Amino acid sequence: MATQNQCETPWTAVPFMPERLSLPQLRDAAATCRGCDLYCNATQTVFGEGPRTASVMFVGEQPGDQEDKAGKPFVGPSGQLLDDALVEAGIERSEVYVTNAVKHFKFEPRGKRRIHSKPNSREIEACRPWLEAEIATVRPKLIVCLGATASQALMGKDFRITKEHGRVFRETEWAPAVVATSHPSAILRAPDPEARHRAYGQFLDDLRVVRAEMARVTREQADASAERKKMQVRREMHPGTEDRAGAAAEKARPNGAAPIRRRKNSKVGRQAE
Ligand code: SF4
Repeated sequence: MATQNQCETPWTAVPFMPERLSLPQLRDAAATCRGCDLYCNATQTVFGEGPRTASVMFVGEQPGDQEDKAGKPFVGPSGQLLDDALVEAGIERSEVYVTNAVKHFKFEPRGKRRIHSKPNSREIEACRPWLEAEIATVRPKLIVCLGATASQALMGKDFRITKEHGRVFRETEWAPAVVATSHPSAILRAPDPEARHRAYGQFLDDLRVVRAEMARVTREQADASAERKKMQVRREMHPGTEDRAGAAAEKARPNGAAPIRRRKNSKVGRQAE
């Protein structure tokens, strides 16, 4: 029978953060995190996964039983439902980064079973530096919050997913766009097949909003790239003629450094490399 331990912790992941914010180093460092008491009953840290250059990041609540055993996010029944819905909505999972607001599995032992237990605000706050570091490193153009925990962790305690799901929030402190939708586990927990069918349909509608937003971002990136190429050709045809706006922008950013996006209450004070 599973038992629960009590562990001493600093209630923040900050002391466990690495000097460099790269995904491999963050993943290694998170594996030894003791920032809150969830580490002492879970099997392992379940860090995010996906391409470093992903333009979309999906953020769930916490790993489930199967994720805890596998050490990978969204590989259990919720992950299967998410995979199916992404295919139906026309979104490639291999192109998105998936992670959770809390990196250890919280559960209540019931006989031999481990029943999911919602992380509390202290645990979510303790784990927030990992999520902030993932966002600072991947720098997604769009973040999709799956469920109330992820939505409230990023959009504030007053955020109501029932009212705001499927809406695109632009220019947030986290990313150029944020969309919230249900967590796949909430769909699986629907009381009857009809309610599940309805919840899945709404989930798909929200994911289609995400796909449309991804297409918009891709178009914008293509336009920006075409504009850069045009400027390059112009410079090659008229050597010595500098674009004044471009030169001024470079001057304002020594060494070509990217502008630092400042976030309120950020626990991560370093710029991603
Ligand atoms: S849940 Fe987050 S803060 Fe708590 S021990 Fe795990 S990684 Fe660290």
